[in-house]
Amino acid sequence: MTVVAFVGLGSNLNDPLWQITTALDELGALSEAPLQASPLYGSKAVGPGEQPDYVNAVSRLETPLPAPSLLAELQRIEQLHKRKRSQRWAARTLDLDLLMYGDAVIRDPALQVPHPRLAERPFVLYPLFDLAPALQIPGVGPLRELLRACPRDGIWALQDD
Ligand code: ADP
Ligand code: MG
Repeated sequence: MTVVAFVGLGSNLNDPLWQITTALDELGALSEAPLQASPLYGSKAVGPGEQPDYVNAVSRLETPLPAPSLLAELQRIEQLHKRKRSQRWAARTLDLDLLMYGDAVIRDPALQVPHPRLAERPFVLYPLFDLAPALQIPGVGPLRELLRACPRDGIWALQDD
């Protein structure tokens, strides 16, 4: 038995394009069906101060793992990327967020799905829509309704070929 899970990827340090394309390969090893990946997007960093632009994507996995084990695998991949580039701990070379895990609604601070900030983030909603336009977000509503309420501001399509 497998569960369909969606994972959001983000990077704004140490060759973000490389970070994201490598992480997609690594995520593929967690999926029993071929990994589906959205097109890559660029986005403006949110928050104070000067920060480089982000590269973002969303991927779709079919996983045999329970949700906490999948999150642990995502954190293992994040650590792998920090080590590979011997980045300072403070620096974020790769962020992997578990956006959805089947129909599950989990409200544990260590693991919340659907991801609580999903609805307000265009760099999540638009690539998610590329992969699954008819998606229903458990406990939230249809993805296309969320898109309607979230302008496509501060994100742009990247050429990834
Ligand atoms: P951000 O909210 O910017 O992604 P972090 O990646 O630093 O921040 O947050 C990691 C923390 O969030 C971890 O301690 C993890 O347990 C918790 N967390 C809760 N729900 C999720 C989720 N759905 N995906 C990833 N991390 C989650
Ligand atoms: Mg995160």
